[in-house]
Order: sequence, then structure tokens, then C-alpha cells
Amino acid sequence: MYNFLHAKHQYAKGDIILTIGIQACGPSDPRRIQIGESVYVLPPAVIKHSCEPNAYIDWREMTLKAIQAIQAGEYITYHYGTSEEDYSIGAFDCTCGLNNCVRHFRGFRYMNAEQRNRIKDRISHYLFKKYY
Ligand SMILES: [Zn+2]
Repeated sequence: MYNFLHAKHQYAKGDIILTIGIQACGPSDPRRIQIGESVYVLPPAVIKHSCEPNAYIDWREMTLKAIQAIQAGEYITYHYGTSEEDYSIGAFDCTCGLNNCVRHFRGFRYMNAEQRNRIKDRISHYLFKKYY
């Protein structure tokens, strides 16, 4: 199990939590963040998935930003569907119980239209160009 990123202090909406950076990694590393066709970067911390996340990736700045206020000690989360087109290498069952939960998450390409539309404004430039 990974030591998932949690808030070391309080964040306000819009705060930059960390810089994702551009350190390349291979497709088989489950910590990866996809930025293009077969292009992946390794973030400086492992970020947990949530279907109702408290953070998102700003793809222009390559930073992780707070969607809402986050208290110290909370897990920082983002929606893996916003970056991963095919996450079969790290597929998992989400048990958050939300109506539009990804349930068995394998990647954006396996999500239904309703699930995709919920996160449309947060997806990577790569996914947006390919799917919209
Ligand atoms: Zn879920």
C-alpha cells in the first residue's frame, strides 16, 4: 500500500498543493499520471483517487490544486479518470458509493458518457482532444 498524500496544513480553494512536474515514468508504474499517448509522469507524491475529489490537476501549469477548502490531515484526492485513458495495470474497485462512481476503474475509455461528462472540465488536454 502507498503512503498516500495528505494535507500537512490547511488549504483554501484554488491553492496549489504541489507541482506535478515532468519526471517521466513508464506505463507500468501505477503511480503514473498520463499526459499524452504513451507519455507518463511520476508525481512527487502518490495521490489517492476519489469520484468526488478535493483536488484537480491544472494541466496548463502541471500543478495539483484544491477544489475546495481542505483541512490538515485530510487525504488529498483527484479523479483518476481525468488523466488515465487505460489504467488496466492498476485497475481497482472504488467503493465511494456515489451515484456516478466509476466502480471498477480501468480508465477514462471504459467510463460511460455520464461518468465522463461529470469530469469533462478537468480532463487532460490529451483526453479532451481525443474524446471531444
Ligand atoms: Zn467511486
